[in-house]
Amino acid sequence: MSYLAKNYNRKKISFIRGKGSYLYTSNQIKYLDFVQGIAVNSLGHANPKLVKAIRDQSKKLWHVSNAFQIPEGEKLAKKLCQKTFADYVMFQNSGAEATEAAIKVARRYFYSIGKPNKNRILCIKNSFHGRTIAAIYASGSKKMTEGFGPKIPGFDHINFRDTKPRFLNLKNKIKKNTAAIMVETILGEGGIKLIPDKCLKYLRKICNQKKILLILDEVQCGIGRSGNFFAFEQSKVKPDIVPIAKGIGGGFPIGAVLMNKKVAAGMTPGTHGSTFGGNPLAMAVGNSVIDIVSSKKFLDNVKKLSKYFFIKLNGLKEKYPNIIKEIRGRGLLIGIKLYKDQTKFIQKLMDNKLLTIRAAENVVRVLPPLNVKKNELDQALKIINKVCSEF
Ligand SMILES: *Cc1c(COP(=O)(O)O)cnc(C)c1O
Repeated sequence: MSYLAKNYNRKKISFIRGKGSYLYTSNQIKYLDFVQGIAVNSLGHANPKLVKAIRDQSKKLWHVSNAFQIPEGEKLAKKLCQKTFADYVMFQNSGAEATEAAIKVARRYFYSIGKPNKNRILCIKNSFHGRTIAAIYASGSKKMTEGFGPKIPGFDHINFRDTKPRFLNLKNKIKKNTAAIMVETILGEGGIKLIPDKCLKYLRKICNQKKILLILDEVQCGIGRSGNFFAFEQSKVKPDIVPIAKGIGGGFPIGAVLMNKKVAAGMTPGTHGSTFGGNPLAMAVGNSVIDIVSSKKFLDNVKKLSKYFFIKLNGLKEKYPNIIKEIRGRGLLIGIKLYKDQTKFIQKLMDNKLLTIRAAENVVRVLPPLNVKKNELDQALKIINKVCSEF
């Protein structure tokens, strides 16, 4: 009997300990964890540097109100700005809060320049921006919104197509009252679908032409996951607002909104807040994560591991052309798209002690920690090969 609400269909397994890429059950059964809390534990389990950061900070100060200065947060915000397009940062606690805060920043900007009616956000149909009331209507997915009406107004949708043009009639979808386009640079829950660089550039161009804002949701694909610090960096596109979360905390709940100077001007004192957002404990961990993940050497290694893994996975696709349809993604954000429903496949991988997780469109999501070792990738490949051969 569980007293937890049944909003999750949980697997009947639990873990008591983790180390790097591995998880251990109470009877010491070892699993290769290529879920990592869904791209959250960017540096694996119980990373010594993160353990030290949280331990040291926990002895000093856990929480103070944002009514006071928080030096640890100042430090992390400075690093995030110096390494990216951003001029300012607002800390939150989760991805959904970060995407909603991103929407608030966009709307507030137009309000502050005397255009309060310019407040609609154009999103991709069936994308994912979190589970809060506004975020589910931003996603526009029937499954997520069903039963949670009344519908939150202010969102329009466009389909992201598998064929060119990726966005049909984009210009017509932008109305007089559109404030921003908000998309995930790489659609995560939606099946690890990349928005091609050319397409991102096109989005930026249209936003400039129409004088609207570009919000790139990097909650899942950001913080080194794609092999760049942000996934959009490869396209050289500069967004206006970027919500982040998952990987930046390495397992500790942190969310944030990064923004440029122009839009930040609207966020005057009292316009937004968060009790926990940016507290010293969270910031201590965030600072440790970014120091490791943002180094060129670290990111080059992610790219190198990714290249190797993709070559091998594509080899398996050729070996099992009736099972694997496509290998998708970038960096260590990887989707194995199957021809059939992936549930059984994921179960078989788990029976062989490899943990993965589903995404839409029959995709098996594979999310190793960013500091995964090559021999761990080999071990996963061996298990995937075995499961394919028995399928
Ligand atoms: C996970 C995710 C969110 C929501 O994050 P939570 O921390 O679960 O609220 C938002 N956007 C994207 C792209 C995500 O992958």
